[in-house]
Amino acid sequence: MRSVRSDQVIVVGAGIAGLTAAHRLAAAGLQVSVLEAEHGPGGRMSTQAVGGGLMERGAQFLSTGYEIIPELLRTLGLADQFVKVSGRTMAVDGDRSWWFDTDRPQSLLSGGLLRVRDVIPAARGQWATRKLAARSTNDLGRWSDLDGHSGLEWAQARFGFGVAHRVTSLTVHGLFFQELAANSAALPGALTAFLARASSAYTLRGGLGTLTTALAAKLDVEYDVRVERVERPDSPGGRVTITTSRGPREADAVMIATPAGPTTRMLPDPTPDEAAVLRTPYSCGLLAGLALAEPLADDELGGAYGVLVTPSSPSPLAAIAVYSRADATAAGEVLTVMFRQDAARRLTDADDGEVRAAAVDAVAPWLPGLADRVIASQVTRWHEAMPYIPVGHGAAVQRYRDRLPSASPVLLAGDYLNFPWTDSAAYNGRWAADRLIADHAG
Ligand SMILES: Cc1cc2nc3c(=O)[nH]c(=O)nc-3n(C[C@H](O)[C@H](O)[C@H](O)COP(=O)(O)OP(=O)(O)OC[C@H]3O[C@@H](n4cnc5c(N)ncnc54)[C@H](O)[C@@H]3O)c2cc1C
Repeated sequence: MRSVRSDQVIVVGAGIAGLTAAHRLAAAGLQVSVLEAEHGPGGRMSTQAVGGGLMERGAQFLSTGYEIIPELLRTLGLADQFVKVSGRTMAVDGDRSWWFDTDRPQSLLSGGLLRVRDVIPAARGQWATRKLAARSTNDLGRWSDLDGHSGLEWAQARFGFGVAHRVTSLTVHGLFFQELAANSAALPGALTAFLARASSAYTLRGGLGTLTTALAAKLDVEYDVRVERVERPDSPGGRVTITTSRGPREADAVMIATPAGPTTRMLPDPTPDEAAVLRTPYSCGLLAGLALAEPLADDELGGAYGVLVTPSSPSPLAAIAVYSRADATAAGEVLTVMFRQDAARRLTDADDGEVRAAAVDAVAPWLPGLADRVIASQVTRWHEAMPYIPVGHGAAVQRYRDRLPSASPVLLAGDYLNFPWTDSAAYNGRWAADRLIADHAG
């Protein structure tokens, strides 16, 4: 008879959520194993070498407004690896473009993206905006007052039509490949909190994957193990049964830190509260990393680190990130070209050569001659890139968190429980770990 390996806690997924959870559980003295379907850690927070340069496969930068990730970096001795990312940004709409600096919001006006008449209603909303600065930007539960409102209507009422359309919609499209109107006001509310805290962007020397790699190195992570099914015990105090591509496992508790799609496939019997949070739709991500022999010259792409494409633009792109302007000390150069979601869905099944050609064609209007400069490329596909936060979703998340029975043997820690950024994913892992640690102590 085949023996079944038995663990105290199994964490499914070695992204930042699962690794943060496992790190906290191990620190509390629990025996924890992480099962990861891919060959390496990090998921949507991982870095890949392309043509002598670096490409961020998912998250492109961190924010000084984050709370949990800076703490993890300090704990792991990585705080000296911080590199400030240039705030210089280019917004494009067809053949028109504007420059601004995210570290100097007044440059939205001097760069022409906003007009004086756009700024007057925004100035009126400034007092209320300052109050948002104190709120947690990694706990969706703190935004329940905005959960019932449309993001677009809220932004228009708070900042006026010009700012809502020319800045907030642009940001949501460029950063999350989403429409502002499809999200609740919690999303622009939390983005406003970052702005009110005067947050700026930074990266890590060696890329953001440095963090997830360092976390994984301290943990028991098993790679190339796909979890197919997670079944709750028949009776209280029983063990959870896990079916994996490498055979069955058992554990006292299982924490599932994967996006909504795989989580739904794993759980044959979701509770109504679990089913409600798992219904969140996602934007689709398609990224082409184009490695160049030399870094861009200072005046190319306007010297910008990030190029944000307006939702109304005919371009198939949402954004471009220029690696040398995230970390000027890094070797090589990589342009990460991110498709808007309709184009991403259309091209996702195309072969890598076709995606690379589409990316080069799409950037060419702003960087003529690009095709001859690309020395290598890498395509990354995310069927579930970033979760939307539709109206009412925050309440569903709060119900899940509040009504989760104590000593529950299955806990959710996926990104659909929070905002679509790494610090929120880390929060999900930390929250689930703290629930388990409290149950264990009790
Ligand atoms: C293109 C893009 C740009 C982004 N930009 C930013 C940014 O600039 N800043 C920022 O802070 N955030 C950004 N984000 C969001 C951020 O990357 C995510 O919020 C965060 O990385 C999600 O972490 P996670 O651990 O919840 O999920 P993931 O990173 O997806 O981790 C889940 C892990 O589970 C594994 N897995 C899945 N199914 C199974 C299975 N059946 N069995 C075992 N393992 C499984 C996966 O392989 C993966 O490693 C971006 C995301 C994308 C896609």
